[in-house]
Amino acid sequence: MERMTDVVVIGGGYAGVIAANRLTTNPDLRITLVNPRSTFVERIRLHQRTVGTHEAVADYAEVLAPGVRLTVDSVTRIDPTTRTVELTSGIAAGYDYLVYAVGSHGAAPTVPGAREHAYPLSTLEQADALRAILDGAPPATPVTVVGGGATGIEVASEIAETGRHVTLVTGGELGPYLHPRAQREVARQLDRLGVTVLDGDGARVTAVHPQSVTLADGRELPSDVTVWTAGFGVPDLARRSGLSTDAVGRLLTDETLTSVDDERIVAAGDAAAPSDAPYRMCCAAALPLGAIAADTVLSRVAGRTPRPTAVAVPGQCLSIGRRAGVLQLARRNDTAVALHVGGKLGAWFKETVTAGNRCSLGLTARRPAVIGALTAVQDPHRARLLAERPLAPVAIDGVRAD
Ligand SMILES: Cc1cc2nc3c(=O)[nH]c(=O)nc-3n(C[C@H](O)[C@H](O)[C@H](O)COP(=O)(O)OP(=O)(O)OC[C@H]3O[C@@H](n4cnc5c(N)ncnc54)[C@H](O)[C@@H]3O)c2cc1C
Repeated sequence: MERMTDVVVIGGGYAGVIAANRLTTNPDLRITLVNPRSTFVERIRLHQRTVGTHEAVADYAEVLAPGVRLTVDSVTRIDPTTRTVELTSGIAAGYDYLVYAVGSHGAAPTVPGAREHAYPLSTLEQADALRAILDGAPPATPVTVVGGGATGIEVASEIAETGRHVTLVTGGELGPYLHPRAQREVARQLDRLGVTVLDGDGARVTAVHPQSVTLADGRELPSDVTVWTAGFGVPDLARRSGLSTDAVGRLLTDETLTSVDDERIVAAGDAAAPSDAPYRMCCAAALPLGAIAADTVLSRVAGRTPRPTAVAVPGQCLSIGRRAGVLQLARRNDTAVALHVGGKLGAWFKETVTAGNRCSLGLTARRPAVIGALTAVQDPHRARLLAERPLAPVAIDGVRAD
């Protein structure tokens, strides 16, 4: 009997799930998805989990194709020479092909006191820790959200909508990805919710204390609960395993998403750096990249040369509480244009896109062949865009993130 081809997918987020589903189009593959949790985390709803407007989890049975085997564990090391991954449980699993989709997490803050006294928000466990603190805090407790990017805006507005007084310290600019018109819309909506927005040069947190934060301009703000959203980092698994990464730790690949070191390894989502010019960390990139990574493996297994493919990220959707939002449209190089939709319609777009992301996972679990067509808005001009680097001007702690 012919041996089946083993594909291990590391990471059961948006990119890993869609890649695993897509791989089931070849019945001769044995696909194992390794993920530390037994439930799928809808990371893009974690700010909602902190205040209880959404649980932000789904059963893998709803989003994962029945042909994919789920192993609840973490990969601690990849050995490309022996083609094995080592797991926390001590098991070593062999692979013929590996999909690296470990995603991202909040960047470790370097500001004094932040690790001890601030609450990050990029994982399920962190969202739960923040929710427990908010649940136990009196209504008048001053809350500070650090970071004026998408996560900061979304969590600040979500908490403010529960009636709390929230200050958003942007680090300089509110919504740096957004066009100035959309920035003004976000500022209006935050004002409506009573969020105090601090921007400009001095609006950078330089120290976090148990009940206050210090700003670069010397101001001291009362803050019993400080939420840290400034910057994303990635797991250092690739780097620790001796694979080439970019400066942040994302796996370096070509435009077929194949590792520059090893054609048996492909990467997708937040943890991939195609051509050392990574896409912004967001679902709009993670989903199609997952499908492309799977297609690259499927091509190699079938003896075909994989096709370099680039995706266009069409913009950014933000929720500002449950009743407002902004849909920011972008050029194909992921820079914002003046066109945006705000207010209630913006909220509707945001909810539709968010729910649509989860739906598309469920749909592709049942019909894996439709993935590419559904998720990938192809960008035929990435070669030119790569020549015109940088792709997008947004940088928070050096990492572009949604
Ligand atoms: C609060 C919040 C709001 C957001 N809102 C939006 C938004 O509105 N729109 C948008 O596009 N993006 C948003 N993002 C960003 C978005 O969540 C990410 O870009 C997206 O999740 C990336 O998908 P991914 O599959 O690459 O990684 P992830 O979804 O992070 O999944 C990676 C998976 O890999 C697992 N993993 C990590 N290390 C290992 C290991 N060693 N072994 C096994 N498994 C491992 C992780 O546990 C996780 O399950 C938001 C992020 C946050 C935190």
